[in-house]
Amino acid sequence: MHPMVKPALRRGWRDLNTVQFGMTPAHALTLGPMDTATGSFLDLLDGTRGLGLLREEGRRMDLPEGHVDLLVRRLSRAGLLDDSRGGGPDADALRDTPEVLDRLRPDLASLALTTSEPGDPLRRLAARRSMRVQVRGAGRVGGVLAALLSGAGVGGVEVRDVGRVEPWDVAPGGLPAEAVGDRRDEAARGAVRRAAPGRPPRRTARSPLDASDPGFSLVVLAPRDDVAVYAPDPSAAEGLVSSGTPHLHVGVVEGTGVVGPLVLPGETGCAGCLQQDRVDRDPTWPRLIAQWRSGRQRRVGACDLALATTVAGLAATHALAFLDGRVPSSAGARWEVSVPGLHWRARPVWPHPACPCGAAGRTEEKDEGRIPDKGSREKGKGEHTPGAGGSHETMAVQGSSETVRRQADTERPAGTWRAHV
Ligand SMILES: [Zn+2]
Repeated sequence: MHPMVKPALRRGWRDLNTVQFGMTPAHALTLGPMDTATGSFLDLLDGTRGLGLLREEGRRMDLPEGHVDLLVRRLSRAGLLDDSRGGGPDADALRDTPEVLDRLRPDLASLALTTSEPGDPLRRLAARRSMRVQVRGAGRVGGVLAALLSGAGVGGVEVRDVGRVEPWDVAPGGLPAEAVGDRRDEAARGAVRRAAPGRPPRRTARSPLDASDPGFSLVVLAPRDDVAVYAPDPSAAEGLVSSGTPHLHVGVVEGTGVVGPLVLPGETGCAGCLQQDRVDRDPTWPRLIAQWRSGRQRRVGACDLALATTVAGLAATHALAFLDGRVPSSAGARWEVSVPGLHWRARPVWPHPACPCGAAGRTEEKDEGRIPDKGSREKGKGEHTPGAGGSHETMAVQGSSETVRRQADTERPAGTWRAHV
């Protein structure tokens, strides 16, 4: 281990023996008491020295015996320490391509804030390279979103769409003006390729006998049709629900940007739940939907460029949080923002008992007879998924259920979520 105090957090002394790491409430923490000698020793924890050399330096600085190990343990427990050589073979492979890693440095620093184990930031970043994400829809939102995921290091971004690129599909970072008239899916693949920080590692050849397709870690539904954004047709996601494939709904409808729900099939509310709930609250909903869906004449929806890009960006952060092993606040909720006020709000998407996805049953089972307080939530971390680690308290969903909040606190091994397969 070559310990390194995470460089992503700025350091400052609150008083003579208390150090604050970081500036913002979401990720800052204080450590103390810490004497000045130990404080200056922190500068040596920059990832260039192994523990043996650090102990030697400690002796030279007259630090008490065992002090260096104690300090390293404390920093590590606080989640402040990274290992400049850690992260496993995939991380090593990424270190061997410094030109790729340099492109991703800010992303790596960001991962350092949301992981706790030394070596984890680069392990997670490297894991993105072998993940497969499918984006369905390559309009202004889908095109940019696919390029963002690719640029953030996701190695397998596939785009599915039909037809040819229209002038109004063009967006900076997404489909280029030169692609007008080309096949939409091919143009989007080009955008994905251009955004990639490097070639993804080659997949290991599969034996023909090995029929188990790992499938997509995530599918993003970014329809160009605004009715499909506002009232997603459950039948479009049926295969994803039945195969247990996590999927994220996103798009712009009549000047309103929508991110979510992120559907964890059988766990959180899906498009079917959303539709059932609508019908409960508004009996005329099916009549309206039928009219909207039948009136699909060729028209250009209200989807201004900046809003589309904002939505693509926010959706990409939710997707990446999920791929990195977290459950972001769009699970069980839709984030919505409308021009021109642009106040973000989260609307809960409750699991519906009549929906065949089964999320409602699971929720009742889980919540039966107890309203967990914070303590039991802590203990319950990772109860639905293996390999839970530390996590932050900052990802709670406003106005959503306790179940979802607990899931938001849960950390999973990256890219491993498969409910029914
Ligand atoms: Zn459902």
